Amino acid sequence: MPEAVLRQAASEMLDWHGSGMGVMEMSHRGKEFGAICTQTEADMRALLAVPAQFHILFMQGGGLGENAIVPMNLSRGTRADFVITGSWSTKSHKEAQRYCEAKVVASNAADGHTGLPDPAGWQLSADASYVHVCTNETINGIEFQQLPDLAALGSKAPLVIDFSSHVASRPVDWSRVGLAFGGAQKNLGPAGLTIVIVRDDLLGHALEICPSAFNYKTVADNQSMYNTPPTWGIYIAGLTFQWLAQQTEGELTGVAAMEARNVAKARLLYDFIDGSDFYANKVDPGCRSRMNIPFFLADESRNEAFLAGAREAGLLQLKGHKSVGGMRASIYNAMPLAGVQALVGYMREFERSRA
Ligand code: PMP
Repeated sequence: MPEAVLRQAASEMLDWHGSGMGVMEMSHRGKEFGAICTQTEADMRALLAVPAQFHILFMQGGGLGENAIVPMNLSRGTRADFVITGSWSTKSHKEAQRYCEAKVVASNAADGHTGLPDPAGWQLSADASYVHVCTNETINGIEFQQLPDLAALGSKAPLVIDFSSHVASRPVDWSRVGLAFGGAQKNLGPAGLTIVIVRDDLLGHALEICPSAFNYKTVADNQSMYNTPPTWGIYIAGLTFQWLAQQTEGELTGVAAMEARNVAKARLLYDFIDGSDFYANKVDPGCRSRMNIPFFLADESRNEAFLAGAREAGLLQLKGHKSVGGMRASIYNAMPLAGVQALVGYMREFERSRA
């Protein structure tokens, strides 16, 4: 989280803008929270250049919830195509099988989730209701550097992207997207808020079994207030959008500035890893994530010592996901370049002292 956002939230915790209430104490139907919600949506729309024909929905259930909610709303019980690129798209595919015929049209499982299957080789269905990709595989450290152009690949289906772990870290080409979903807890705010951005024509096709609170049309028709939305999460995301809009990098502002910063941060760490025999990243350089950088020590018996020393140096949460092992540096938007410099400094010193 950006420190400025946390400080502002702390200063407004007991009394939001002289209302005599903190945000957690507000009715979601009151004018104060209404103003926060409307502003948050408008700020997100401006920041991510979301076109008018897309609805921004504030929901609950997280990315894993959306793995069920998307097929319930979009599949019409027919077929959906899945591109498997790592742990999260694998989970999405598995869950969708409960609601539709979920077909794997490409997979990088054979190479241990280290490369992106070339879109030209995807076996897309002629009749898919949607095509699902996870645009940043948080655990495996794989990121789409460009969204696939499904129309150019011969598919008429809308593209669904799980952008949970890189939302607002780079611009989105909405001309290629039908629906984007993501949990807020990486780049936007606290866990509990799920953002769904969905094109108008994809509303209104939910399966009978779809819970009303998860029916995108119901949520859109009620401005995300069909049931009580995660008010605190929306408020914090709103502060984060304001913070993002103020970021500059040379001539760049907002998400473009964040992207430039994220490119520089990731390059610093990848260049250091690639230049060392002591550490390794196994992901194809063409699809390496800017947000999540898994790496391995050549001698894994040193893992515990590496993590203990890192903790002592104030470098936390570096242990890799249990399914992959090794280390993982998650350098989300709020991580400053200085944080990555500190990590590289520690890694260099750890290597030197063990040489
Ligand atoms: N998709 C991606 C890309 C994720 O990174 C995560 C969480 N790390 C999820 C889905 C699952 O999100 P949640 O735990 O909010 O359900």
